[in-house]
Amino acid sequence: MNSYTESEERQALRREVAKLAGKYGREWFTERARAGEKSTDLWLEIARNGYLGINLPEEYGGGGGGIGDIAAVCEELAAKGCPLLLMVVSPAICGTIIARYGTEDQKRRWLPGICDGTGTMAFAITEPDAGTNTHNIATTARRDGDEWVLNGRKIYISGVDEADHVLVVARTEDAGTGRVRPVLFVVPTDAEGFEYRPIPMEIVSPELQFQVFIDDVRLPAEGLVGDPDSPDAGLVQLFAGLNPERIMAASFSTGLARFALDRAAAYAKQRTVFQGPIGTHQAIAHPLAQSKIEIELARLMTQKAAALFDSAAAGDGALETAAGEAANMAKYAAAEAACDAADRAVQAHGGNGITQEYGMAGLLVATRAGRIAPVSREMILNYVAMHSLGLPKSY
Ligand SMILES: Cc1cc2nc3c(=O)[nH]c(=O)nc-3n(C[C@H](O)[C@H](O)[C@H](O)COP(=O)(O)OP(=O)(O)OC[C@H]3O[C@@H](n4cnc5c(N)ncnc54)[C@H](O)[C@@H]3O)c2cc1C
Repeated sequence: MNSYTESEERQALRREVAKLAGKYGREWFTERARAGEKSTDLWLEIARNGYLGINLPEEYGGGGGGIGDIAAVCEELAAKGCPLLLMVVSPAICGTIIARYGTEDQKRRWLPGICDGTGTMAFAITEPDAGTNTHNIATTARRDGDEWVLNGRKIYISGVDEADHVLVVARTEDAGTGRVRPVLFVVPTDAEGFEYRPIPMEIVSPELQFQVFIDDVRLPAEGLVGDPDSPDAGLVQLFAGLNPERIMAASFSTGLARFALDRAAAYAKQRTVFQGPIGTHQAIAHPLAQSKIEIELARLMTQKAAALFDSAAAGDGALETAAGEAANMAKYAAAEAACDAADRAVQAHGGNGITQEYGMAGLLVATRAGRIAPVSREMILNYVAMHSLGLPKSY
């Protein structure tokens, strides 16, 4: 990458993924969703082409690239109307954490399946009572001889029905200090005591969200990710997942925003009710032009965040801090750009904007979710107020 553009290799990757996603497209995606079917064919084709694990190390089946590569894949899929939320979760959050902090045995066991699409991993931190305040999670992990015993409840967990495992965040009491600390476990979705129930959501997607019930789930010692004796391991692991999560969420949003804008511009060029197409009127053209600018700004920030994150991988603390700030800003900007683009696209379509045939109204909810998850716009504003502006913590 030079100062302003992505490398030729990254641009070629984008073109290839766009071509692949174009074979499926929005109509295929929404038909699947409405029929209660899955997007597995697309998932496996992305995997077969080496795109699913493109950010993960080659020795475990990945492509040896960075977060910028998988973010580009995620964005191009969404830009063709096929946004895959599980890309944010499985290869980017879970894959990054396990590749960085898993034991050798854990990497060999779980990463190849994440890369080839046969061992998708969901991620569960959110709880009904803790919500945004993840310090308050109540899912517990208790040691019982050689095993761990997990109990708790999770909510809004994406893709549990498509996953073989869930990376579950729990808390345990440090035997030495008595301090409560987070710990991460890989829980098989068919484990005894592990149950899940879909939450009826208004998002039109084959990927669903679930309530998860964890009742006396027993795991072997090696179900705990990383070094069991390191007191802060879980916290460090969680932090490692945050920037990938935000960069991917930003790419998911900019992709959706591009899709909405492309459809709106195409419609505004051909729909005529007075003289000339409706795109002639500045009341239609200017909001779309505004969206074009906002999307490009958000993409630029996302690419900057990804480049900083990938350069910081060698352990440069200052770069890591800069990556965190940029990832938060990118996620914020992308979600805002996407919500506005979807709203303007619906408006440009008039009544057709609300029909299932044109499929634009569904984008309102899909893009709106980006202001809430995986981290809300308010928490990003809190972060920027505190870390970028040095203002006092408000919560
Ligand atoms: C589509 C979708 C997919 C999801 N997938 C997953 C997943 O796979 N895994 C997972 O673990 N979670 C997932 N989530 C959960 C998501 O991360 C949470 O919804 C999100 O973190 C917000 O938590 P909450 O819904 O409990 O809202 P709450 O915490 O109840 O917050 C409600 C509102 O209050 C605001 N608020 C709270 N505290 C403050 C504060 N201090 N300052 C300012 N405002 C504040 C919030 O910003 C929000 O607007 C998903 C959610 C959605 C919608």
